[in-house]
Amino acid sequence: MIRVAVVGAAGRMGREVLRAVGEAPDMALVAAVDRVEIGADAGALADGKPSGLPIVADLRAALRETGAQALVDFTVPASALANLRIAAECGVRPVVGTTGLTEADLGQAAEWLRDAGLGGVVAPNFAIGAVLMMRFAAQAARYLPDAEIIELHHERKLDSPSGTALATARAIAEARVEPPLPAPDGTVEKAPGARGAVAGDVHIHSVRLPGLVAHQEVLFGGPGQTLSIRHDSTDRRSFMPGVLLAVRKVMELNELVVGLDRLL
Ligand code: NAP
Repeated sequence: MIRVAVVGAAGRMGREVLRAVGEAPDMALVAAVDRVEIGADAGALADGKPSGLPIVADLRAALRETGAQALVDFTVPASALANLRIAAECGVRPVVGTTGLTEADLGQAAEWLRDAGLGGVVAPNFAIGAVLMMRFAAQAARYLPDAEIIELHHERKLDSPSGTALATARAIAEARVEPPLPAPDGTVEKAPGARGAVAGDVHIHSVRLPGLVAHQEVLFGGPGQTLSIRHDSTDRRSFMPGVLLAVRKVMELNELVVGLDRLL
């Protein structure tokens, strides 16, 4: 049995993780940590069935006292790096779904884990369909270098563009054989940001609206044709097989792995 702790346990993703870990035959949920809902029953939060495990506030104490082996983090960008450090100091393997970590953050996390002799996983998207979407987009970019990304998320998402959109832009930029077409001379943005953000020469447009979960469309254009590759997470359950896979794999890793595709 893998002893699993969850931080951000009272959040939208955290509650799904509590339920998924609770149902996994090879995992034991040993700690549920958050800044809100302290003292609430984790099982009741996850699926309405009390489990006797309360939400606690102190991550370090929870990891030390419960003998957790893996920590699943779905918190906020400002907390995830500090949590990763606590996990490394406590000898616990982190599986991080929180988005918004920078390249510098990832470098720092890799160093902490190397020093502690531990493996870890950071993945901007745990949905297998989204991983395939990124892979197909990289394939298409070899033949159609002109691409734009539209990512759509619920209105409470803190970071933009999404980690998935940035990872897709990077994959497209690396896979291109030809450069994209330059913007024509005299191009004017009449409203700032109208053409979106730019990463790896790929324009990214972020939509935030209630009613959405997590969606992304990658649009390619060539002379006389367009190609759209789209993925929709309509329910947060879509991320759980990837999270459980990462928890199982992280037990065998001895370095930080970034991206679910590297575990498949
Ligand atoms: P959410 O509902 O706001 O939940 C986050 C929870 O974490 C909140 O209860 C928050 O408390 C708590 N928290 C923040 N910092 C903490 C800390 N240091 N210690 C303990 N608890 C802490 O957010 P969500 O929708 O679940 O999303 C969480 C993250 O996952 C986001 O970064 C999102 O982009 C990402 N995400 C990733 C994937 C993926 O596949 N990788 C999929 C979906 C979402 P407060 O309310 O006090 O801040």
